[in-house]
Amino acid sequence: MSACLFCRIVEGTIPADILFQDDQALAFRDINPQAPVHVLVIPKRHVPSLQDSANEDRDLLARLLLLCKEVAHRHGLADSGYRVVTNVGRDAGQTVSHMHLHVLGGRHMSWPPG
Ligand code: AMP
Ligand code: ZN
Repeated sequence: MSACLFCRIVEGTIPADILFQDDQALAFRDINPQAPVHVLVIPKRHVPSLQDSANEDRDLLARLLLLCKEVAHRHGLADSGYRVVTNVGRDAGQTVSHMHLHVLGGRHMSWPPG
């Protein structure tokens, strides 16, 4: 069993509210939502952060972004707008060391983030 929280969600040993998955990616609801829609999109393979991705991962990265777009569309956010965020490392406040894209929407969001 993996030590990584999100790898365990991929393995199915920790439950999650899974919205979509294919052979490479998984989308599930954030356990502590910061907006009416707050979904995490992750690669099934353990990649600690965007900083650990490589040129060979370009198809995977594109797939993750397109899945974010699909998640937003399915939640009716395409017109109102939404935010896609990936926190990388300490200064960004990354708390789970398995790359994830946050899809946030359903409310107005300010900029810049804190
Ligand atoms: P970050 O701070 O960018 O690393 O984001 C980690 C996110 O994972 C946070 O928004 C947490 O609420 C979320 N999270 C932590 N544990 C779980 C879990 N078991 N299921 C779903 N989301 C989780
Ligand atoms: Zn992992």
